Amino acid sequence: MKVTDHLAQAQGKTLFSFEVLPPRKGENIQNLFNNIEPLMEFKPPFIDVTYHREEYMYQRHPNGLLEKKTVRKRPGTVGICAAIKNRFDVDTVPHLICGGFTKEETENALIDLHFLGIDTVLALRGDPIKSEGHFIPHPDGHAYACDLIGQVNDLNKGEYLNQEQDETAATNFCIGTAGYPEKHFESPNSGADIRYLKHKVDRGADYIVTQMFFDNEQFFNFEKRCRDAGIMVPIIPGLKPLTTKSQLTMLPRSFYLNIPEALAEAVHHASNNEAARQIGIEWCINQSKELMAHGVPSLHYYTMSKSESIRRIAAALF
Ligand code: FAD
Repeated sequence: MKVTDHLAQAQGKTLFSFEVLPPRKGENIQNLFNNIEPLMEFKPPFIDVTYHREEYMYQRHPNGLLEKKTVRKRPGTVGICAAIKNRFDVDTVPHLICGGFTKEETENALIDLHFLGIDTVLALRGDPIKSEGHFIPHPDGHAYACDLIGQVNDLNKGEYLNQEQDETAATNFCIGTAGYPEKHFESPNSGADIRYLKHKVDRGADYIVTQMFFDNEQFFNFEKRCRDAGIMVPIIPGLKPLTTKSQLTMLPRSFYLNIPEALAEAVHHASNNEAARQIGIEWCINQSKELMAHGVPSLHYYTMSKSESIRRIAAALF
């Protein structure tokens, strides 16, 4: 069932959903299942699976020359979605990115997903390859998520690439897109960011999932700016508890977000990592409670491959 159908069926009740990462190459899928298992008690209607593109690595040969190699550290998004769906009888949402894909490869991936009975995708541009610094689109692919959304939407009308249209073979994907309460880091200002988000919705996005944030006021302001701009689709807040002191610097560096002073100070002065984790969990529970009272459609948690903190949060809420 599509994410938007799950949200409609909930009739205003806040759902619990989460995101997982594919296992690292060479790692057993059982580790991922073991992480998901304790969260199934809270009846997530859907689970997102991230997509990780290739990274460049340099290998030195005995002759001293460096060879550039591409490595995908976490392959298997589509297969993992099918495996989770099969194992836990839950809907899965693969993340689909522009980076590294031709339009034809995207179409083929969508056909695979359609045949697997997966009917929602989260359509993203994708992060730049680390060593490249900025996003470089594939020459035969898409530069922005809005164009990828357009392609999924065309397929939903039976418009395949380079082929006669066959409306009877049309897919019927529900399309999610990303939103940034604290603005996407490349946007010149939050007004432009919202205009591009509106464009993504106009091209066919059915719902929005936000980047993580630690201050609910950021979400409430973002939601208001979206509604004022005429963006009326459901907006799902993305949440992550701070679980280690090192995340005080790592999360802002990776995700371009602010950590409120009260939370940062408390975690910084925690006597050890378990105490820091407990502070992060309590903060996230309070954030979640306020968002639930506000009436958000789902609370979507970023597990980052570790589910224990999310389980403790869900146990306090659901
Ligand atoms: P876009 O919407 O294309 O926006 C990218 C930038 O371009 C923004 O600054 C935007 O304002 C601007 N822009 C948008 N449209 C236009 C336009 N038409 N003209 C000019 N400028 C424009 N990354 C992964 O690699 N894999 C994942 O699985 C993944 N999952 C994610 C899940 C969520 C919920 C979120 C919030 C992010 C995720 N990301 C993931 C990260 C995401 O890919 C990056 O943040 C990326 O830099 C932007 O993706 P986007 O889809 O928001 O891009």
